[in-house]
Amino acid sequence: MKVIDKLENLEIWDLIDKSNKIHLQTHGKIISIERALFLSWWCEKGDCAFCYMRTQKPKIDDPKKARRSINSILAEAELCRRLNWNIEFLAGGYGAFNTAEIKNLSKKIQEITGQSLWLNIGITQELEEYGKEIAGITGAVEVANPKLHEQICPSKPLEDIVNMLYLARDLGFKTGMTIILGLGETPQDLEFLFNMIKKLKIQRLTFYSLNPQKGTPYENRPSPASLYYAGTVAATRIKFPDLELICGTWIDNLANIGPLILSGANGLTKFPLFKMFGSHYGKRLEEEVFWSGRTLKGTFTNYDSLLDDSKSPAEIEPLIKRYIDKCLNNKS
Ligand code: SF4
Repeated sequence: MKVIDKLENLEIWDLIDKSNKIHLQTHGKIISIERALFLSWWCEKGDCAFCYMRTQKPKIDDPKKARRSINSILAEAELCRRLNWNIEFLAGGYGAFNTAEIKNLSKKIQEITGQSLWLNIGITQELEEYGKEIAGITGAVEVANPKLHEQICPSKPLEDIVNMLYLARDLGFKTGMTIILGLGETPQDLEFLFNMIKKLKIQRLTFYSLNPQKGTPYENRPSPASLYYAGTVAATRIKFPDLELICGTWIDNLANIGPLILSGANGLTKFPLFKMFGSHYGKRLEEEVFWSGRTLKGTFTNYDSLLDDSKSPAEIEPLIKRYIDKCLNNKS
């Protein structure tokens, strides 16, 4: 039986059992913590039905004021280095930073982490401007069913995302996509997603679950059920054993973590660093990984790692200190 039919027939444990074995053979036991570095609270599209930016656009008269300072982004990158977290990508709404600015910032982040960076900055054809500071390009697909996509993300056509990813591949970048579960898709819609992964030779996929935002059409919709989420990840892992799978879950859904790991997640994302670090939430994340029989790369609890300042550039030191102070507030 096809994995999609198994998901539809609620054969979730069967899917998870199989995907866990495939995952361990192919990827081993390491689980990473992934951190998206955000550029701004502004997006000139601002009309995707689920998105928080949709609620912010009318309130922001000057987009420049919604940009984060470069030093605060660099300070966060430095904290990721200290904690041994991966930077998932640099992410931002449309129109906040231009290509030259993103390239410069990426180089500075690369100097801090020693790693080239993935981008998730919207549809662009200016990829030729980027060089070795960039490892991969992410297409924020969100929903792979074309009809649903048109309704939910009217200003970022699927075709344009696909064309950008083809261009990225032609230029030698890796390619990734993001998908949000809970937007109204069905298990059979996985066929659209699987076709895209195959066609575009996608190397990394991030799954998120709907976080209903006040003031959006999804305000009163539930987040997807934990076993639907896990079953979807498991079906994807079985179908694509080599794919890097990142799974996002929210601070109020930490119990998703164990099932997502057993379903084939390589990494976990979407956590509020300063609220969680060292708190019972951070400890819970580490417990979830432990009880899944995996080993966490990096830490959500070790203050000694946080306080290692051997490599921090002087100009970002005050911001690093401010962020560390926030984390120290969680210490009990
Ligand atoms: S393009 Fe991205 S940031 Fe802008 S509204 Fe849509 S999902 Fe939100």
